[in-house]
Amino acid sequence: MKNTTIKPFKKVLVANRGEIAIRVFRALNELGITTVGIFSKEDRYALFRTKADEAYPLNPEKGPIDAYLDIDTIIKIALSANVDAIHPGYGFLSENPDFVDACEKNGIVFIGPSSDIMNAMGDKISSKQMAIDAEVPIIPGVDHAIKEYDEAAKIAAQVGFPIMLKASNGGGGRGMRIVNCMEDLGREFEEAKNESKKAFGDDKIFIEKYLRSPKHIEVQILGDNYGNVVHLFDRDCSVQRRHQKVVEYAPAFSVPEQTRQIIFDSAIRLAKKVGYRNAGTLEFLVDADNHPYFIEMNPRIQVEHTVSEMVTGIDLVQSQILIAEGYPLDSKEISISSQDSIHCNGYSIQTRVTTEDPSNNFLPDTGEITVYRSGSGNGIRLDGGNAYTGAVISPYYDSLLVKAISHDRTFEGAVRKSIRAMREMRIRGVKTNIPFLINVLNHSKFVNGQCYTTFIEETPELFQ
Ligand code: ADP
Repeated sequence: MKNTTIKPFKKVLVANRGEIAIRVFRALNELGITTVGIFSKEDRYALFRTKADEAYPLNPEKGPIDAYLDIDTIIKIALSANVDAIHPGYGFLSENPDFVDACEKNGIVFIGPSSDIMNAMGDKISSKQMAIDAEVPIIPGVDHAIKEYDEAAKIAAQVGFPIMLKASNGGGGRGMRIVNCMEDLGREFEEAKNESKKAFGDDKIFIEKYLRSPKHIEVQILGDNYGNVVHLFDRDCSVQRRHQKVVEYAPAFSVPEQTRQIIFDSAIRLAKKVGYRNAGTLEFLVDADNHPYFIEMNPRIQVEHTVSEMVTGIDLVQSQILIAEGYPLDSKEISISSQDSIHCNGYSIQTRVTTEDPSNNFLPDTGEITVYRSGSGNGIRLDGGNAYTGAVISPYYDSLLVKAISHDRTFEGAVRKSIRAMREMRIRGVKTNIPFLINVLNHSKFVNGQCYTTFIEETPELFQ
């Protein structure tokens, strides 16, 4: 019998907003744990705060985003509400080691990995170094920050154009530049450094070979506090716009089995090597020759975690909470006795319904939703909470209205269910990307698993 320490939670604060706050409240609810929400002044009428058992206002003096980044206020609320733990959701403070430390210093469990792991895996350069140590393949390039142009030019010549300049602390598809030739390198290098400093707080830039039209394949993992790590198969997130995911599905059926196995083994090896605990995702690019390369690790729950839940039947958010309480993976509560006990059943697709208007360069629309009817029925799960008739969509936060997740025994069946759900949806008052999503789902390349990361930009008929 393992030596385990279990500290059950009575009350948990969710340091987030919108759909992911509701997703976490639901998991806590099912586990019989009292939920605490926080909200900015701009979110005072938002639906998610009413879904918590208790909800407290953040500092109204801070801006709409900064309110959710205000560690001091959040810790104060957590202490006065007497919570046992904090779930960070995604975005905001979810990858901030200072927040993890602040929680721990105040005797509050952070539902996620330790701050050491977050420091090690949090930026792209150090996670690359960890990958090299674990003998996980990475994209040709460098594993350190490049300070001077001369070094950049030398590396670029070795790697061969096109190359990608990346900000080590970049995220959300930002902080990446493709450079096609030496003549452009000087200007792009200086601009990349300045931009990184402004947007991400430092000018750590590195170089990678730019892969033409790869697939983005990622592995979901779960690790407990006792060194056990399993994967929950893969997700194909190649349908992207400006390096941001639009439609995701599981499993990554179009990647050859041998490549998938390398990816799974690499993910487990790297996670074990760093002593990873809780939920995390390791992202890979797969090139035209089906070679996989690790690009980064996200030490948190991801927007697209839902499709892995649908195909494995494992509730990832509940697992996160139970792991943080101290349960081992093979406990009765989590019930993952071994890797072989996890099966992949059928196919699941997630479409992100947003207020982005494809005919207007995907600018997010705002205003009041005058009609809201969702698609539902067999094989459709909806994770949302921002959208309902009468809801006012503000310009302050991301433009996600609802995530529609289909599940079926076949991929074609899941595609049909997703399309049907999109067609059933009626959202008036704000523009949405629903017609665009239907075009993606209907496209033969999507149905056949032949989408690469450049699919959207190379397919003008999606915009019709
Ligand atoms: P972020 O942290 O901003 O999400 P990632 O490193 O995860 O950035 O990369 C996001 C996307 O950018 C990838 O899915 C892929 O489409 C593209 N990308 C990143 N690195 C490369 C590369 N070396 N070559 C080609 N595309 C890349």
